[in-house]
Amino acid sequence: MTIQTRAYAAPSATGELIPFAFERRDPRPTDVVIDILFCGVCHSDIHSARNEWHGTQYPFVPGHEIVGRVNAVGNQVTKFKTGDLVGIGCLVDSCRNCPSCADGLEQYCDNGFTGTYGGEDKIGGTPHQRTLGGYSDKITVDERFVLRMPENLDPAAAAPLLCAGITTYSPLMHWKVTKGQKVGIIGLGGLGHMGVKFAHAMGAHVVMITTSPEKGADAKKLGADEVLLSKDAAAMKVAQNSFDFLLNTIPVGHDTNPYMGLLKRDATMVVVGAVEPLTHVSGIPFIFRRRSMAGSLIGGLPETQEMLDFCGKHNIVCDIEKIAIQDINKAYERTVKGDVKYRFVIDLATLKKT
Ligand code: NAP
Ligand code: ZN
Ligand code: ZN
Repeated sequence: MTIQTRAYAAPSATGELIPFAFERRDPRPTDVVIDILFCGVCHSDIHSARNEWHGTQYPFVPGHEIVGRVNAVGNQVTKFKTGDLVGIGCLVDSCRNCPSCADGLEQYCDNGFTGTYGGEDKIGGTPHQRTLGGYSDKITVDERFVLRMPENLDPAAAAPLLCAGITTYSPLMHWKVTKGQKVGIIGLGGLGHMGVKFAHAMGAHVVMITTSPEKGADAKKLGADEVLLSKDAAAMKVAQNSFDFLLNTIPVGHDTNPYMGLLKRDATMVVVGAVEPLTHVSGIPFIFRRRSMAGSLIGGLPETQEMLDFCGKHNIVCDIEKIAIQDINKAYERTVKGDVKYRFVIDLATLKKT
């Protein structure tokens, strides 16, 4: 353990993030050491830092939308060399033997994947044996969990692809969204804005479903064909039974019935945001019209690489506000209020000023 690492960490569920130093492991033969350039700020970082999902151990370093350059490689690394532009998403380890890992769906590892932060560090060394994330200047990761970033994309704007991007791309692909379908993206935040871009790139007729009237114009710039205000009961009624697919990014438990009613017969709403109980789930929308509700968790390594390559080819990046690490606490407050267009990304060069 000799890789001195600077970071920002939450000291407790209620404390602001503050400077923190620790050591990362030296590279094992299959490890890649990365100098982190940028890290996106995902709403999950905030849920975890504030212990809203329970079980967070402190000090806690968030961050799982990491882009950086390879600084060193172990002697058995085959995919990467020093200087390569690479990414790390939400996963840094999994069992590699179970059926899900064999299918490249490491996020569903039967033996439990290791998250980039807050996961049980089975390789070792970190405080509390918990992984520490990307609000830091260096990270050591096994090459299986390292992704190649397209060099034509702005690395800061590409960072949120590693979570917001794959979390929206994966369900759109899995439920086979295609040209001409009417697809609704619910919630215009970090995930939602990428959902709009991907659904548009896949040729769908995209409807932004939002609680915020002022976001309508932006949604159209991002690629939405229509905007539906979820608080407008009359407009919601007109839109009943008309959607082929819904991607729901609302970050809290909520009443899903108004949204389920928007689906056509046999159509599916995929929930990616709320892990809290969904309230008032009535059987009616399921029984009448044979609709489904499903969930989806990020994406596996092969699909994440496919998504990055798709973004490289179609020049898709995230709309970001770049911040200094010293502004992270303000950024958290603004994210919770929905006041960000549409993802904060930390420039880790600013850590040197701490
Ligand atoms: P975000 O930037 O805060 O965006 C969420 C959006 O949802 C808001 O901008 C707002 O959009 C809408 N919203 C917020 N509160 C709402 C409420 N009470 N009722 C209805 N709409 C509401 O968050 P994010 O980073 O996109 O993340 C979204 C959620 O996905 C978080 O819970 C995050 O933890 C989770 N997540 C899941 C995965 C996964 O793999 N499943 C991966 C990453 C993140 P409008 O103003 O347009 O209504
Ligand atoms: Zn995330
Ligand atoms: Zn596994």
